[in-house]
Amino acid sequence: MADNIFSKIIAKQIPAKIVFEDDRSLAFRDVNPQAPVHILVVPKQDIANVAATGDETLLGHLLTVAAAIARQEGIDSTGYRLVINKGRDAGESVPHLHVHLLGGRALQWPPG
Ligand code: 5GP
Repeated sequence: MADNIFSKIIAKQIPAKIVFEDDRSLAFRDVNPQAPVHILVVPKQDIANVAATGDETLLGHLLTVAAAIARQEGIDSTGYRLVINKGRDAGESVPHLHVHLLGGRALQWPPG
């Protein structure tokens, strides 16, 4: 298991507010939310970032899970944003692939 905070959340070694789980993914609320709904969808497999896997099925699954959680959170009709940060310029801070689901307010574009 990789030594990062999301690996520890996946292993249930540290707590998180989990909103969804299946055999391939885990989704939990971001500890520092940037919108009323801010949830992280992560693969259970150790994958450092979006460029570190060619598993199109898994990548598609993460997006499908995020869309299902958006419906569950009641923001499907108002809209939401899915974000994957990769590398320094994007501000990626945890080296485990994660999809941000952001919604519940009007989001600015372009992002900062
Ligand atoms: P990144 O900047 O890498 O795209 O996003 C990492 C996200 O993980 C940030 O939004 C940050 O608030 C969140 N985060 C960092 N540590 C923890 C933690 O221990 N628990 C939870 N739930 N979220 C975390």
